[in-house]
Amino acid sequence: MDVQTYQSGERVEKFCAVCGEERGHVVASVTKAGRITRVSCPKCGTRSPFKAGVVTAVRPAAKSGEAYDRTRTYRAGQSLTHPVFGAGEVTALVEPQKIDVLFPDRMRRLIHARA
Ligand SMILES: [Zn+2]
Repeated sequence: MDVQTYQSGERVEKFCAVCGEERGHVVASVTKAGRITRVSCPKCGTRSPFKAGVVTAVRPAAKSGEAYDRTRTYRAGQSLTHPVFGAGEVTALVEPQKIDVLFPDRMRRLIHARA
């Protein structure tokens, strides 16, 4: 049996009790063996322990957002579609011109508002 291993920053699907919905979470910590121990919800920021076996294997169909455009200014919660990474959801503005976007495989930092 293959055991999938993870690294922090990767995405897993989990039910968030605070948001009240099944949604993409970001792996916050893993064991040396690559087992997830904690995940965080990028929407509400809640960190929760991760029990093995809770991963929903099937990723939800991506909400298709408009094509990513680095000259646009994004807000948390917006959807976008990146030509390489696919459908993503803006989870946070980290700097005036940088955003964190949760893609189907992991969190990535993109630039925005570069007119
Ligand atoms: Zn949440």
